[in-house]
Parts: sequence; structure tokens; C-alpha cells
Amino acid sequence: MSEQTTTTRLDLFIDRMVSQRACLDAAITQTTGRNEPVFELGLGNGRTFHHMRERIRDRDVYVFERAVASHPDSTPAEHLTILGDVRETLPAARSRFPAGASLIHADLGGHDREKNDAFARMISPLIEPLLAINGLMVSSDRMYFDALEEQPLPEGAVPGRCFIYRRT
Ligand code: SAM
Repeated sequence: MSEQTTTTRLDLFIDRMVSQRACLDAAITQTTGRNEPVFELGLGNGRTFHHMRERIRDRDVYVFERAVASHPDSTPAEHLTILGDVRETLPAARSRFPAGASLIHADLGGHDREKNDAFARMISPLIEPLLAINGLMVSSDRMYFDALEEQPLPEGAVPGRCFIYRRT
């Protein structure tokens, strides 16, 4: 029998999901007790939003999304939904949330890795000023921050499938 060495799309998908959950759980634990809200960038089906809303009881979770199309169980309340393109809503959020967010999760990409990387480069400077001191940013894509420091991944996360950054 030949050795199985190819990483399949199924492998990549599972690695991303497992890593997303491990990184989110670690970041939630590390930011528990903070006052600043939480931002979810990209609602999609709402799976990660649902996970965060169930696990985060001490802070509001605001969702940034251009078009809500989530599962009914995973749809944020209207007052917690910031509708529009993040290229416009993130800069506008700076005056609304002067203390920033204690935790920001971004999962805005699609299937094209090059496009995701270009988009991550473009929105990194829009996300960076929104993270509070000692806040954590979890992303499915590598980000390009000036001052935020990349953190070691928690157990169970697969390198390259999820990233964690901290403002020190
Ligand atoms: N994490 C979600 C989940 O668990 O179901 C999946 C998020 S999905 C991969 C990406 C979402 O980001 C889509 O709903 C898309 O509409 C949103 N999105 C992508 N680019 C955006 C932009 N420029 N502004 C606002 N939302 C955007």
C-alpha cells in the first residue's frame, strides 16, 4: 500500500475548524473578566459567532458583516450587528468604541488563499487600532500588524491554520 502524504482539502478544513476552536477557547479564557466588548468579523453561517456567544457571558459580542445570512440560531441581535463592508465599518467603529475590543476574531476569507492574504494585508491596519491593551486577536489568516505580537498557539491548534496576536 502506498504511503498517504498528500494533505487533502478535507484535512485542511478539519485543521482550520479544530484550530479555530482551540484558539478561540484560549483567547476567551485569557480575556475573561475584561470590560471591553468582543468583535466577530465575518458572520457567515454563524458557527464561530454561536460558539463565542455561548462561551462569552460577560461581554457583548458585536458582529461585523456585509450581509447577514446565518443560521437562525446563530444570528446576532440587531443592536449587536454592524452591517456593511468592514473597510468602512472598522474605521467608523473607532469613535464608537474608544476603549477598543478585548477580543477580535476575524474569519473573512473565502477559498482563494492569495485573495485572502491580500485582504488580510489591507485590513490589518484597520483592525490594529481597535484592539485594547492586552487584548487578543484571533484570525484564520496571517495578519500584518505593526505593534501586535504573534502569540504561541494553544494545544490542539495546527500551525498556519490559525493565528493569535496580542497588543502589549
Ligand atoms: N466564521 C464563520 C462561521 O463560523 O460560520 C464563517 C465566516 S465566512 C468564511 C466569511 C464571512 O465574511 C462571510 O459571511 C462574508 O460575507 C463576510 N465578509 C467577507 N468580506 C467582508 C467585508 N469586506 N465586509 C464585511 N463582511 C465581509
